[in-house]
Amino acid sequence: MGIKVAKFGGSSLADAAQFKKVRDILLSDKDRRIVVPSAPGKRSATDVKVTDLFYACNRLAEAGKSMDEPFGAIAERFHSIARELELDLDLDSYLNEVRRQIELGAGEDYAASRGEYLSGVLLSNCLGWDFVDPKTGIFFDECGRLDGEKTQTVLGKILKEHEHAVVPGFYGCDTHGNVKTFSRGGSDITGAIVARAAEADLYENWTDVSGCLMADPRIVRDPETIRYVTYRELRELSYMGASVLHEDAIFPVRIAGIPTNIRNTNQPDEPGTLIGYEAEEHESEYVITGIAGHKDFAIINVEKAMMNAELGFGRRVLQALEEQKISFEHMPSGIDTMCVVVHEDAIRGKKEKLIERIRQLCEPDTVEIHSGLALIATVGRGMVRSKGISARLFDALVKAGINVRLIDQGSSELNIIVGVDNLDFENAVRAIYRAFVVKKPRW
Ligand code: ASP
Repeated sequence: MGIKVAKFGGSSLADAAQFKKVRDILLSDKDRRIVVPSAPGKRSATDVKVTDLFYACNRLAEAGKSMDEPFGAIAERFHSIARELELDLDLDSYLNEVRRQIELGAGEDYAASRGEYLSGVLLSNCLGWDFVDPKTGIFFDECGRLDGEKTQTVLGKILKEHEHAVVPGFYGCDTHGNVKTFSRGGSDITGAIVARAAEADLYENWTDVSGCLMADPRIVRDPETIRYVTYRELRELSYMGASVLHEDAIFPVRIAGIPTNIRNTNQPDEPGTLIGYEAEEHESEYVITGIAGHKDFAIINVEKAMMNAELGFGRRVLQALEEQKISFEHMPSGIDTMCVVVHEDAIRGKKEKLIERIRQLCEPDTVEIHSGLALIATVGRGMVRSKGISARLFDALVKAGINVRLIDQGSSELNIIVGVDNLDFENAVRAIYRAFVVKKPRW
């Protein structure tokens, strides 16, 4: 028998009906022995997340004002879930204690974490599973970063003592013994940490979509779902803007060799997206895995005849950037030219200074900054082994009348990055998608 750790996001636990779906999913597979719940999320587009209501309570408490309104809304949400699920627990005593602590000044992190805490209390009651408070097993260091080693040891030991456990997401304990939260969306991270500590065979991340899509649905209509993606590919895609999991949720499971499965609570029969290691065993239907990108980059173009023979030239260009505290994204270079791609935001208000400094340090023939660049990454583990991929990609862009301003194949061989004008971004993504993803007729 294996162990699956199942994390459920806020929309999966937004109300009693969603709680029931979660319970059915958990009980339908004996391997699902540990669950990591989020706080109840939005029930509709205009609804407010419980976490945001808790932040509001804390702000009011700090201002010495009454928190009756947001706290009343929180209490009603949890009561209606408990009522409909016919739970046998004294919810008011939990709520009163939480309110008392916020009023006493327990702080923002404590308040924000209570959505997950109460979700966990209800779920543990509903399933009859043990409640494990992450305050006793997930630790942050002095600098506020996760203390991975301590967490792994302590949490690993705790989880071994429970056949079934509910571990609320989003928070742990700081070095003073106080509750500390991860950044927003951090229950994904808890799920990954718990999966690693439990030596799970699979980390299931249940949400309201059936996995990762091959392209942004706001740009490409009805894009295909990615069935299998490697952690390396996912890193490239999320770096380029594809929003999948919280960034820090990849690391713990990746180093532990645990695959992640993104699933849909509302469509539990769909396989979702599996994220794993092996590239070869999972042939993908298409030669590419996904397309991601975003706008608003700038290129710093430095030209100098015989640059290739000049020792330390690249270092001096980068020194100028470092002095201005500008980090760069890509650096495609030629014999006499060096291009450094940076975020537009990173150089705002610093352009003149930067050019002047590059001139002083490198004495180039020309140095110019071009703005309004969008970058698009076409990612696919199958690209290395297939011929004609670049030809297909550039042909599609030419046919769509798009001028390519930059090309970077990257060293990962997983990725072809093209730079186009901001204005051409959406058309370019659609052209690349059409070139590689031929939908099978659905009949
Ligand atoms: N409830 C937290 C938030 O809204 C954490 C999470 O849902 O992952 O950010």
